[in-house]
Amino acid sequence: MMTGAEEPQSKVFDLPRGKTLGGTHSINAAAYVQANADDFNDIARELGDSTWEWTATASLRSKLENELGIVKLAEEQLGATEFIRTAMSVLGFPFNREPTNGQQFGISPSFWTARQTEDGGKRRSSFDAFVLPFMDEASSGDHGSVDVVTYHHVEHLIFDPDDNSKVIGVSSVNTRANNIPTEFFASEEVIVAAGTYNSPQILLHSGLGPRSHLEDMHIETKHNLPGVGANLRDHYAVATYWNLVGLEPDTPFLFQSPILNMFGPEPTGLTKFQIELSGNYGSCVPLRQESHGTVRLQSNSPFALPLIDPNVLSTTNDIDQLVECLRDYLLPFFDGLIQQGLLSPGNLDPSATDEELRSFVIQNVASNHHPVGTCKVGPDGDHMAVLDKDFKVRGVSNLRVIDASVFPRIPSGNINAPVMTAAMIGAKKIIQDRSRRLLRGSA
Ligand SMILES: Cc1cc2nc3c(=O)[nH]c(=O)nc-3n(C[C@H](O)[C@H](O)[C@H](O)COP(=O)(O)OP(=O)(O)OC[C@H]3O[C@@H](n4cnc5c(N)ncnc54)[C@H](O)[C@@H]3O)c2cc1C
Repeated sequence: MMTGAEEPQSKVFDLPRGKTLGGTHSINAAAYVQANADDFNDIARELGDSTWEWTATASLRSKLENELGIVKLAEEQLGATEFIRTAMSVLGFPFNREPTNGQQFGISPSFWTARQTEDGGKRRSSFDAFVLPFMDEASSGDHGSVDVVTYHHVEHLIFDPDDNSKVIGVSSVNTRANNIPTEFFASEEVIVAAGTYNSPQILLHSGLGPRSHLEDMHIETKHNLPGVGANLRDHYAVATYWNLVGLEPDTPFLFQSPILNMFGPEPTGLTKFQIELSGNYGSCVPLRQESHGTVRLQSNSPFALPLIDPNVLSTTNDIDQLVECLRDYLLPFFDGLIQQGLLSPGNLDPSATDEELRSFVIQNVASNHHPVGTCKVGPDGDHMAVLDKDFKVRGVSNLRVIDASVFPRIPSGNINAPVMTAAMIGAKKIIQDRSRRLLRGSA
């Protein structure tokens, strides 16, 4: 982390993950935010692959919403009318009723990955929506079989003894049974989906990664892939807290976080900032920061936690963006609410100088928990691309990675929905490949 003219500083912050069925979706805040259309269009252009285009993924997003269920609170249910009006009058942001349609500009209610029930709503994870129904069908004999094996920690991939570049399975240990080693073999291919921190970890332990790092870890290089664990991107945010003065204690706005989102200031295309809001909380999130870090191994033990270096705020521009977001958007907005007697200043003075904002940023910056990029897809000429446009790991066969790590750049806003959309693009490609193979077999 840079502090401008001064020396870089170190900082440690939490980087949680959901080590459970449904992964991090099972422990996250359940906010449903779709990216900007241009996030997907830019990847499509870069890869020369129209499958990623925003319009081409529309049916995937509809399926996602149908299977997951999305709770959308109506404006009057939010109890946040003054907040919305203030954003409109002070910042000139419009009210955007449908922020998931690819154009995010404005102030909008948050949507949730949950199903409306009689007594409110029940959150649903990707496991609930996309795996559980097939397990139920499998057990009732209606469908193919889905076996879910829990308490297995995957250590590394297994390669064909006769072909060092062909992946044939995974080696794991059963953490519930004295770490008994178990091998699983694939009839077709292996798909790694262990997330932005753990997918590169598994690849590195299997000898797929930057040769020099693998040598340092005393791991035999199966294929030199410099991009594995590089390009770690995240949203680094600062949160501010305010004292509530004039809100009714039972307003829903106080209980759910974040309940309002602001994207701007650009009226079309990619926006520069996201601002998350709930009753006494407001957070500034620059959406495209320059800083990027790495995921590396600490040792050749698959149980050692990966060494994550987010390299946060490593450019002055990243610090300036956070200062700009606070100074030009969040503070005038909260000041407008203070003027109406709804809030009083909390952990930040609305009249703070740029220098004060700068030290506030440096002291308070934290991950907004949207890591991506460590096994990125990329075109053939990009030597840092770990995956080709079909999510296949370069240099080996029978292996794909499909999770948040595939994004070459970070999508605008919270990333769970874009990650699931990318997973559906991956699923489409797997099905297409399989159909092609079957057709060739039957010809
Ligand atoms: C605290 C928090 C709050 C968040 N809130 C939101 C939000 O409100 N809205 C939003 O859009 N996004 C949110 N996110 C981000 C979002 O949840 C994640 O980006 C998304 O779930 C990532 O999905 P993934 O499939 O890439 O990885 P994960 O969901 O992390 O899945 C990885 C899976 O692999 C398993 N695994 C890992 N290593 C191994 C191994 N060696 N062997 C076996 N299994 C392994 C894990 O147990 C896990 O099940 C939040 C994230 C966090 C941490």
